[in-house]
Amino acid sequence: MDCELCERDGGRLLWRDNFCRIVRVPSEDYPGYCRVVLNRHAREMTDLDAGERERLMRAVFACETVMRELFEPEKINLASLGNQVPHLHWHVIARHTDDRHFPDPIWAAARRNGRALGAEQRAAVSDARLGAALGALLARPRN
Ligand SMILES: [Zn+2]
Repeated sequence: MDCELCERDGGRLLWRDNFCRIVRVPSEDYPGYCRVVLNRHAREMTDLDAGERERLMRAVFACETVMRELFEPEKINLASLGNQVPHLHWHVIARHTDDRHFPDPIWAAARRNGRALGAEQRAAVSDARLGAALGALLARPRN
């Protein structure tokens, strides 16, 4: 089997444990774009047992929480597509009203040119800072 997400992290690694990882997608337009990737190969959420589903979503929600704090988006987009790479992963994307595609999904045709105001500032949020915030949140006991 030839699977990109079995072979590579899928972005710049921010955090990982033995179950899943959180990576940052290199993007000029979207500095606040992360993916939560299951480490093992599975195709659909329903291929996971209930505890695993909860564990994966916990990472997705941690990512959303940290990105809301650091990128102050208008909206967080969560998406699980996997049509091109059928290996479970969630896209977590901070959206701003003046980004290239807003209010459409980032995969749609662009509505405007140029970077959003504040994109440069958001790009300055380092991987280390994101990773530390994720690590701190995910190290907390579950409630
Ligand atoms: Zn895979």
